Amino acid sequence: GCCTSCARMTSLAFSTVHPFWVIVRNDVMVMTPWLSPIIWNGTYSIDILNEQFHKRGGRVGVTVFAIKKYTVFLKMFIETAEQFFMVGHPVNYYIFTDRVNDFNGSSVVLPEGRKIIVLEVPSYERWQDVSMRRMETIRDYSQKLFVNEVDYLVCVDVDMKFSDDVGVEILSDLFGTLHPGLYGKARESFTYERNPQSEAYIPTDKGDFYYAGGYFGGKVEEVYKLTNFCHNAMLTDKKKNIEAVWHDESYLNKYLLHYKPTKVLSPEYLWDNSFGVPGFLRRRRFVAVPKNHNEIRNK
Ligand code: UDP
Ligand code: MN
Repeated sequence: GCCTSCARMTSLAFSTVHPFWVIVRNDVMVMTPWLSPIIWNGTYSIDILNEQFHKRGGRVGVTVFAIKKYTVFLKMFIETAEQFFMVGHPVNYYIFTDRVNDFNGSSVVLPEGRKIIVLEVPSYERWQDVSMRRMETIRDYSQKLFVNEVDYLVCVDVDMKFSDDVGVEILSDLFGTLHPGLYGKARESFTYERNPQSEAYIPTDKGDFYYAGGYFGGKVEEVYKLTNFCHNAMLTDKKKNIEAVWHDESYLNKYLLHYKPTKVLSPEYLWDNSFGVPGFLRRRRFVAVPKNHNEIRNK
């Protein structure tokens, strides 16, 4: 049977007292103080979760924005998602772009139950506005489209590729993802908005985690509430001539401080290889594609 060394080597060990696999991760935090799971490799059985999800007939939508030159990322994003994202489950890809002709969706053949929906949206001159206005768009489409078509939304950056499985283990009422650059860092060093005049303000003695702007989601209604808050907070700040330090990410962090996520995704779900490959990182599921900022932004 399983031995102590195998318990250390692998993340799941068979218990002699329970008929279940027991979770063994001693190197990372696997639960928040408000009892939401933090999702790491080795903390769940995908077979059980897939069966449960399948029985309920859940539908998943992905929102991704490709404004201006960022359409170059779409091909890699979709192709790798087809390899790794929610394999075997129905998925709607909602691609928001100002360049509908740049993306020839028909070149990607999707299996039954999975489809690409291209939606035209305006672009903004500043990349900060492009990034922030995603909140407004997701909010509006949650009400007029997503709610009729899907149960869960996964809202992600496009300058990314999937390189390992991302499945139904991420789904929950409201989820956020730990930012790879600030994982394990002290709270004071989190790059929250520190101006008390801003709607995104978080004082240095507050904050649970630093969440990444490029990966959040949940049930459509929860995503509606989150994006509605973030967009309105941004507008209120704008009237005061304030722009939060990390734009939409700052407002997201403020929202998730007060409305705690029901699941937290580990940095496995949003990695950037410029941070190396630390020992706790057993899988790199969704990885940033390096980009030349001067070449690609504001173009
Ligand atoms: N984005 C876009 N066009 C732009 C700027 C941003 O489509 O000109 C979208 C795109 O989905 C991108 C996201 O906004 O992934 C966030 O911007 P970016 O990835 O540049 O931010 P970073 O991850 O570098 O902080
Ligand atoms: Mn990005």
